Parts: sequence; structure tokens; C-alpha cells
Amino acid sequence: MRGIPAVHRLLADERIAEYETALGRDRIKRAVELVLDRARASGDRSYDDVVAAVARELDGLALQTLRPVINATGILIHTNLGRAPLAREALDAIGEVSREYSNLEYDLERGERGSRRSHVAGILAEITGAGDALVVNNCAAAVLLVLDTFAKGREVIVARGQLIEIGGGFRIPEVLARSGARLVEVGTTNRAYVEDFERALSPRTALLLRAHPSNYRIEGFAHDVTGRDLVELGRRTGVTVVEDLGSGALVDLAEFDLPHERTVQEAIADGVGLVTFSGDKLLGGPQAGIVAGRANLVARLRSNPLLRALRVDRMTLAALQATLQLYRDGSYRKGIPVFRMLSTTVEELRRRAEAYLRAIPRATAVESDAYIGGGAAPEKRLPSVAVAISAENPDAFAARLRSARLPIIARIEENRVLLDLRTIPPAEDGKVTEA
Ligand SMILES: *Cc1c(COP(=O)(O)O)cnc(C)c1O
Repeated sequence: MRGIPAVHRLLADERIAEYETALGRDRIKRAVELVLDRARASGDRSYDDVVAAVARELDGLALQTLRPVINATGILIHTNLGRAPLAREALDAIGEVSREYSNLEYDLERGERGSRRSHVAGILAEITGAGDALVVNNCAAAVLLVLDTFAKGREVIVARGQLIEIGGGFRIPEVLARSGARLVEVGTTNRAYVEDFERALSPRTALLLRAHPSNYRIEGFAHDVTGRDLVELGRRTGVTVVEDLGSGALVDLAEFDLPHERTVQEAIADGVGLVTFSGDKLLGGPQAGIVAGRANLVARLRSNPLLRALRVDRMTLAALQATLQLYRDGSYRKGIPVFRMLSTTVEELRRRAEAYLRAIPRATAVESDAYIGGGAAPEKRLPSVAVAISAENPDAFAARLRSARLPIIARIEENRVLLDLRTIPPAEDGKVTEA
């Protein structure tokens, strides 16, 4: 047993103790015992070897805790990496309303119980032009709430080409089935006409649904029914039109030299009854699902008991409110990280790349394609710059970057590991080169 270090000495070693906040003493102790068992089985090991082995074990455990990472993939709204980073104003607002008490469900004017739904509804209506709006947990919940409220036991007409799966298990046909609505598919995969919808109408029809195809496109011999055409049919026949926009742009992407994405305002102006969209995609805020639309329809959503189970907390409301304020005062370009990343010029990225090349001997700067992600403009490449590092085993190299103190998620292309600078915050460049 000579040379096997004592448990208490290892626990006190600062190279091991520094994991205590993240992992807790018990897990550290178990890791130490595990490594010592192995050391006993394999014979003597030096103290430093044991410390290094424990640290490796703890690094592995620490990777499983929720922690910040560097997104070097070039995909701005990356669902696996937490989607849209929040604006500083949103983070401050979370702190302000959560540190102490807030008027979450209190009416300050009347001095009595108020509603958590009132805070953000006003600014949402103002920005989108809708009569009223409602916030729930995510867009999937928003769609579910709409279907449950209006279409349970009745029929919803959808174009076949819009029976989409977004990923993460969100499939329009399955959400419809879950809500107790019956799906009526019309048209073909590539073409649907307003006449198809009209022929499918029946006394059981509850809604005409339009869904944003998000991550895929039908190109070539294709025809889609516009929101306006659907609204016109809905008006004539007294059926409500719902549009699931998904990403939910509140500004015209053409401002950023990108293809136009249908905005929430456009859908509302077309007369769509209810529009659903996410808070953490193109909007650039916290995870949330928003329903905006005609006041009488939103009122019916509000009286659905399901809403209680889908409601959002004060942190979400605070962050969403602060993010929306950036739209209202016109400072979203600078204030919301997604738009900051979108408006960074290639020249700026090239300049930053030079600092990387000075710090990383084997690196080169290459042209790269970044993407918005989150189902918006999936085919649109954003010109970008990546730092490319060739490696004999790029998979192993990328894995080591993922296990860095501040894990870095890179892209692999052929024999190179690429770090796309568009999604790396400039303030973190130093940490990335160091890693
Ligand atoms: C992303 C998306 C959803 C789901 O949104 P979550 O906020 O992730 O629940 C629903 N519909 C469409 C069209 C989407 O793009």
C-alpha cells in the first residue's frame, strides 16, 4: 500500500477541492475512492498521478452539469446549445425581479391580486399589432393550447406539405392528435390551393392551420396557400385561421441582407386570427411560446384551465419584457445578441481571426458558412470566417475542446477542426485561444 495517498489529503488538495461547488463533497469523495481502488489494483502510483486521475474523473462529471459553452459551430440559434443568448437587459431584468419580490400577480394600482398575464401582453400587442397576446412555456405549448381550446373533438385543415416535424418530437400531426383534434390533410406534398381547403370544409371544421415549414423547403413545382388567401376563405365561411410561425421574426430580415422571413406583424396584418411563435428563436429572448391575435380569441385561450399548467415564471416574463423593450426603442440591432451576430461584418471577423492565428501555431483562417438556425431561412448561408486547425484525429481534437474548462463546440470538416467566429463572443476570444 506504500505510495497510495490518503483520502483526506486528496480532498484537501486544491486541484480537487475546486470542484466542490459544482459537484459537492460526496461525489468528489466517491471519485477519489474509485481512483484509489484502481491505483491499488494497478500497483503504486505517485501522488500527482492520482490527483490527475481524480481531476480527469471529476472533469467527466462536471461536463454533465449545466454550464456555459462556446458555440463555435456558426449556427446562431442552436437548439442543443440553448438557442438565443439573452441581451444584457434581459439578464438584468431577471435579477431585478427575482432577487426580491415583484408584482408578478399583484395590481399595484388597486392594491389587490393581479394577473401575471397582464405584464407582457401590452407590449406584445403594441409591437405585433395584435389585439391581445398570451405567453406560455414554449411554442409547442402555444400550439397545443390553441388546438385544445378551439379544436378538441373537431377538425383542423392543414396543407399536406406543412405536416412538419421540427425536431425534438414536435410533429404537427401528433400535436393535433394529442389535443383531440382530427387532422384533415389537403393538397399534395408539393402543392396546395385554397380550393383544397374550401372543399374540405365541413360543419366539424374548427380551424384552418398554416404552419411554417421551418427546417425544410419544398422547391420547384410547388404551390402554397398564402395567409391572406386562407384568411379570405376563413372570413367567407366563418372559420378561424391559425398560423404557427415557429421562429417568429419581429423585424424584417432583409435589414440584415437576408431573405425576407414572414414576420408576426405581417401575419397579424393579413388578418390571421391567432399567430404562435417562440421566444428563444429569432426573437432573441427566453424560452417561451407566444400567441398573438384577435382579443376575443385570446380571451378564450385565457379561460382554458390547461393554461395553468403551461404558465411561465417571473424570470421568463422579466427577460421577455426586457427583450421586447429593445424592439420598441429600436435598439435590438445592438442589444440582442442574435442580431449583433447577424450584423457583424466579415471584415470584423477577419480581424479577429488574425489574433487567433498569432496565438495558434497550426491555424489558418478560412471562409465559412454560418446559419441562422432555429428554423429560419435554413438554406441561407451567412458568409463567415473560421479558424481552421488541422489535426491527425479531428474527432479526438474536437472532443478535447469539448472537455475544456469552458467547453468549445467546434465543427469538423475533412481533417480540420473549424471554429466559426460569428458565434463566438469577441470577449471570449482570449479564452478560446488559450484552450
Ligand atoms: C420551433 C417551432 C415550434 C416549436 O417551438 P418551441 O418553442 O421549441 O416549442 C413549433 N412550430 C414551428 C413552426 C417551429 O419552427
